[in-house]
Parts: sequence; structure tokens; C-alpha cells
Amino acid sequence: MSICITCEKDFGGRSNQKFCSVSCKNKHHNSLNKQKEAVVLNVNKILHRNWTVLNKLYQIYRSTPISIDVASAYGYNVSYFTHIHNSPIGEKYTMVYDIGFKNHIDNKIQIFPAP
Ligand SMILES: [Zn+2]
Repeated sequence: MSICITCEKDFGGRSNQKFCSVSCKNKHHNSLNKQKEAVVLNVNKILHRNWTVLNKLYQIYRSTPISIDVASAYGYNVSYFTHIHNSPIGEKYTMVYDIGFKNHIDNKIQIFPAP
């Protein structure tokens, strides 16, 4: 006898068999995929919020340097961005899709839409 890891029913089968049916096997794998996708959806949500915040701040301040704390107060999460853009003159921009910022030494950022 084995116990199905999805529905926890006893079923007769090989001792190494994990599922009582194809349906339970599919349910199990669908559930694992959903959990994996939840991670992606959560990161996408944070990236989208960061993108929205940068666009909002750009409308207000344009490229005037502002404190990163202002961005954080608007809900910007500094741990999430899509890529780093290196400009031809060696400046580094932290990008969230098509908008990003350059860091200044005084904890300020300067926002720019993608070149
Ligand atoms: Zn089952």
C-alpha cells in the first residue's frame, strides 16, 4: 500500500508510486508551478511599482537630483530593478524597464527616461 501525496488516500501500487491517479499527479505539479509563478508575479509587481514611482517622480522633478528617500517614501524598492545601463561615457544607470536613475554620492538620484 502507498499513500497518495496529493489526496492522502491509501492506494495499492508499487511502493515507490507517489500518486493514486494521473489526476492527483497533475494536481500536484500544477500546484508546484503555481507556487513558482507566484514568485515571478510578486517580483513583477514590485518592478511595476518601481517603474510607476520613477515615472511619477520624473513628472514632478524631471532630472533634478532628489534624495533616494523621496523615492522610497513613494514606495520605490531599491532592491529591484531590471538592468544596469552603462552610458558611452561610462556612467551607470539603474534601470526599471525604460526609465532609470544615476546615483550621486550624496544619496541622491537623478532620473532619466531611457536614451
Ligand atoms: Zn490521490
